[in-house]
Amino acid sequence: MSHDAGGDTTGEIAGDVAASLGRRPLPLPDNVSAPYWEAAARGEVLYQECPACGYRQFYPRALCTACAAEPEWRPASGRGTVHTFTVIRQNWAEPFRDLAPYVVAVVELEEGPRMMTNVTGCAPEDVHIGMPVEAYTIAVEDGLGVPFWRPAPTD
Ligand SMILES: [Zn+2]
Repeated sequence: MSHDAGGDTTGEIAGDVAASLGRRPLPLPDNVSAPYWEAAARGEVLYQECPACGYRQFYPRALCTACAAEPEWRPASGRGTVHTFTVIRQNWAEPFRDLAPYVVAVVELEEGPRMMTNVTGCAPEDVHIGMPVEAYTIAVEDGLGVPFWRPAPTD
């Protein structure tokens, strides 16, 4: 996870699809997913790993999809790559209609699981498969944050 992850607020990324978060329908945490959303509010991205068989999975589920044991939460590094993506150029639903074009992507965490998300912080035409990205989170309210991804800094 980048050191500046967390602490972002919806107002700090004006003009970005992530900035619309406060106007979007929000996730509804349940007993299984609540730790994930709570962690994102603290600036962390979590995935699940099975203590019985080692399988790693995302999205949050009550059981390991490989062996049905109870998975445990693990912090992701916040590093990943774009596995695939699309550019949304038309969406007539608010608040998205004013945000297009924006990127909906499947990001592969370096730990393996894949996450559907938005890649932000660059022009949609600059996104490509295999692109290194880093996670950041936006805290919407107490106990509810949402991860997004942006181009990883080049060293
Ligand atoms: Zn398992």
